[in-house]
Amino acid sequence: MIPAVMPTYARYDIAFDHGEGAYLWDTQGRRFLDFGAGIAVASLGHCHPHLVEAIRDQVGKLMHTSNLYHIPGQERLAERLVANTFADAVFFNNSGGEAVEMGIKMMRRFHYTNGRPERYRVITVTGAFHGRSLACISAGKQEKHLKGFGPEVDGFDQVAYGNLNEMRAAIGPETAGILVEPVQGEGGIRAMPEDYLRALRDIADEFGILLMFDEVQSGVGRTGKLYAYEWAGIAPDILATAKGLGGGFPLGATMATERVASTMTAGSHGTTYGGNPLAMAAGNAVLDVVLAPGFMENVETSAKRFKDGLDRLVARYPRLLAETRGKGLMLGLQCRITNGDLVSKLMEHGLLSVPAGDNVVRFVPPLIITPTEVDEALKILETSLSELKRDAA
Ligand SMILES: *Cc1c(COP(=O)(O)O)cnc(C)c1O
Repeated sequence: MIPAVMPTYARYDIAFDHGEGAYLWDTQGRRFLDFGAGIAVASLGHCHPHLVEAIRDQVGKLMHTSNLYHIPGQERLAERLVANTFADAVFFNNSGGEAVEMGIKMMRRFHYTNGRPERYRVITVTGAFHGRSLACISAGKQEKHLKGFGPEVDGFDQVAYGNLNEMRAAIGPETAGILVEPVQGEGGIRAMPEDYLRALRDIADEFGILLMFDEVQSGVGRTGKLYAYEWAGIAPDILATAKGLGGGFPLGATMATERVASTMTAGSHGTTYGGNPLAMAAGNAVLDVVLAPGFMENVETSAKRFKDGLDRLVARYPRLLAETRGKGLMLGLQCRITNGDLVSKLMEHGLLSVPAGDNVVRFVPPLIITPTEVDEALKILETSLSELKRDAA
């Protein structure tokens, strides 16, 4: 008989009971160092006192009113995102997929409003992941996500990641824009070179199309900047953010420049839950912490310590590991063994990580991790790799 919970996930045989900071405790009382953070979601770690208090205060006051009315928390969070990014306006939704899909709609709407309704196609790159809605799986074009869900939603083309000639050649009279992750997450923790991102900006400008970044995973301080695009010194026209933004509360946002956002007139898009007072309390509390002076420096310090340690492990275990990848606290180890074997071994020793594409083990720890916790993770990695090496011998 089918279990009551639909069998869409191959779950690890473990359930967690509570958490604190970078640690989780399972239902048997075992402690784990959480370098997965619920897939880059628990940006402040588990049960951060400021986030807990903000949500607790709001839940006892008002949870939901709908977007029929003004929501002061939305205005506050939007103004803060506008003040700290390229964006002039923000729309709040509940998840990464929704944030991306709205961005795609906005690309079409922008050209429609500007008298070019034939421009509706969006170009993505290989290794992309943009979410699980019909449009998002059609954008990502990964066989394993599309299988059995055809036909694909029309309007997406894909070119090889890193190949600018292919990108230029793919742009036609129907192209609306380009959509990429500045650091690919699910695809295998690939940080796009800054000159590649700058070239995409130039190409978009040259052809009069839009550039959208999917920073659902790389955003909200994950790479040591509020958003990863900042490293490249350019800005997109549209950006999708989610995962870390609510620190565990489901919250996404689509941000855009005025010329794009102004085409989204009243009635053109909507959501029942998106941006409700409870979600806004969470988002504002996360920004209180992430935007505080010194926070990003801390991310960079921990990231460097961790990256250096991972590089040492790659040098030490060349038969097990191929390379270190990523940026900031979004790091990956590309394996020569099966990535899932390393993830399981690390879990046995009390360290949580997340598998990613291209045989990568992904580390996306809470942004509040300390040097001591980084060292603890590296020690568990060392122990696990030495055991795997012995087993392989
Ligand atoms: C997780 C993710 C999504 C989808 O987010 P959901 O909240 O699962 O809908 C989209 N894009 C990227 C880059 C992601 O990492």
